[in-house]
Amino acid sequence: MTQLNTPYPSTAYLTGFLRSRGVEAVQEDLALALVLKLLSSTGLKSVFEQIEVNPNSSPVVSKFCEQFDKYYATIDRVIAFLQGRDPTLAHRINSRMFLPEGARFDALDVYEDEDDGDSLGWAFGSLGVQDRARHYATLYLSDLADVLREAVDPRFEFVRYAESLAASQPTFDPLAEALSAPMNLVDRTLQDLTLAAITRHQPNLVLVSVPFPGNVYAAFRIAQTIKSQDSGMITVLGGGFVNTELREMTEPRVFDYFDYITLDDGEKPLLALLEHLRGERPREQLVRTFVRGNEATTNCLGVVHYVNHPEPDVPFAEVGTPIWDGLPIDHYLSTLDMLNPMHRLWSDGRWNKLTVAHGCYWKKCSFCDVTLDYIGRYDGVAASTLVDRIETIIQETGQTGFHFVDEAAPPKALKAMAQELLRRNVTVSWWGNIRFEKSFTPELCELLAESGCIAISGGLEVASDRLLKLMKKGVSVDQVARVTQAFTDVGILVHAYLMYGFPTQTVQDTVDALEYVRQLFEEGCIQSGFFHRFTCTVHSPVGKNPEEYGIQLVPLPAISFAKNDIDFIDPTGVNHESLGLGLNKALYNFMHGVGLDADIRSWFEDNVPRSKVRRDFIARALCDQ
Ligand code: SF4
Repeated sequence: MTQLNTPYPSTAYLTGFLRSRGVEAVQEDLALALVLKLLSSTGLKSVFEQIEVNPNSSPVVSKFCEQFDKYYATIDRVIAFLQGRDPTLAHRINSRMFLPEGARFDALDVYEDEDDGDSLGWAFGSLGVQDRARHYATLYLSDLADVLREAVDPRFEFVRYAESLAASQPTFDPLAEALSAPMNLVDRTLQDLTLAAITRHQPNLVLVSVPFPGNVYAAFRIAQTIKSQDSGMITVLGGGFVNTELREMTEPRVFDYFDYITLDDGEKPLLALLEHLRGERPREQLVRTFVRGNEATTNCLGVVHYVNHPEPDVPFAEVGTPIWDGLPIDHYLSTLDMLNPMHRLWSDGRWNKLTVAHGCYWKKCSFCDVTLDYIGRYDGVAASTLVDRIETIIQETGQTGFHFVDEAAPPKALKAMAQELLRRNVTVSWWGNIRFEKSFTPELCELLAESGCIAISGGLEVASDRLLKLMKKGVSVDQVARVTQAFTDVGILVHAYLMYGFPTQTVQDTVDALEYVRQLFEEGCIQSGFFHRFTCTVHSPVGKNPEEYGIQLVPLPAISFAKNDIDFIDPTGVNHESLGLGLNKALYNFMHGVGLDADIRSWFEDNVPRSKVRRDFIARALCDQ
């Protein structure tokens, strides 16, 4: 499970690449298929029948059972509405008499307007019929996810499904245990979908992409189904989770499910693997691939080997254009949970995902996995090639929205792309991640807006010049203020990634950082944000050289499976957990325009010091341009 509104790009990239090399490749999104199957009238009926067999007394489940007839009657219509296939249903949904309501709707009472009883009038006005209905329909789906979690599978989430089985799990044991447990309704549904896909395509090689820990359990269930059906069918695991967490994997049981595991960009390892499977390349010449010793490799039966015949990667200019063929692009669900115009972009609308370049051109931030290929190997492409790809994708999908999923798209490349889009008169809407660096001048921001840029996101991390310097972020708070204002001035929405708990961060630093953030909202420089708790990873400069950041790493246990996060001791001893609650509460309110004039200390449960930041710091920084 990754997201419901649009396909994850890895399979589209690999399908496009493999076809460009003459390989007959097809793709399926079993995550979306699973959700659509469970959230259908037949799916809900199965859930209801299961509850009848195994009664469950939780209030969430009881409420679902009481209103089951209504859920059964409405679910298929609601899904069609969220897929954009039945927009007039919005009027019925907005009546609040059509959909059954569970606990998720209780939150609406917070907004209850005493004057006219219109709970969401402040957000949608009197005309936002579609958006309002989409929000109600999203709450309805969230209620159903709660039911699935309480009645069927406690690990169920639309994203991050069962992720604790995989994320930084030193051994394979928890996953092995879960995979040997009897299948529940979710597992059986995924099994049916896997078998149907296998029957449809009759593949001899199946590649499973796992971008995040929340995809791992299902990926192994898919492989388990395939192997039980046909043990000779070759299965391969790859994707972001593997590239980050399985680099030192030594667990042979993984190969009961997958025959090969490849690291980093899939193109080159897959070409090598295909050659090997055709008998044109010996196993010792695979590229970035884990294998388990077998009878053919006599001296190391059952042992995991990492084979890496050194060969250059396929340049970014030659990876080809992603292809969506095979993905049901009209069936993704545009949901709307956060009533914030920027936040909604992540869950609402079908965006073609593309990258401007490979890797990060900056690759210095000390908390980032800069030693890994997907960040550390920067490889650009000519603007003409990028816009060729954009035009081809529009032709294929009929959609002009693009989300550039670079970790930090380079300003130079964005400028060249914008000029090329304008020169060719291509109409697109696009958004993506950047670094708030000073080359984003008001002139460049205007050019980007003209080319179709509607929103950008970037890291302000801990808003503190001392910590930004320690992080090697290469930006300062006043510079971020000026850059973000330049974007907002031309109508581009700005989202800031924020962080807390960085090594040596004191309570005073945290209070001051929140005061900067408050002022950035107040001055209209940013429209949304998200606070992440800093985690130290073994691939980051902090994890590699902890002493430079004043911390001590807690030794890891023996690792045979996943390795990524690592605990550390920070001598400052700050309780970041409790501060995090205050930070998130404040941010949530700021995003809705609430509480911007309150004293920053009022957001925290515990006593915290007064902010040392001038109340007009950002306003002055903006005047000083
Ligand atoms: S945090 Fe972003 S800008 Fe910094 S190195 Fe990583 S990808 Fe690049």
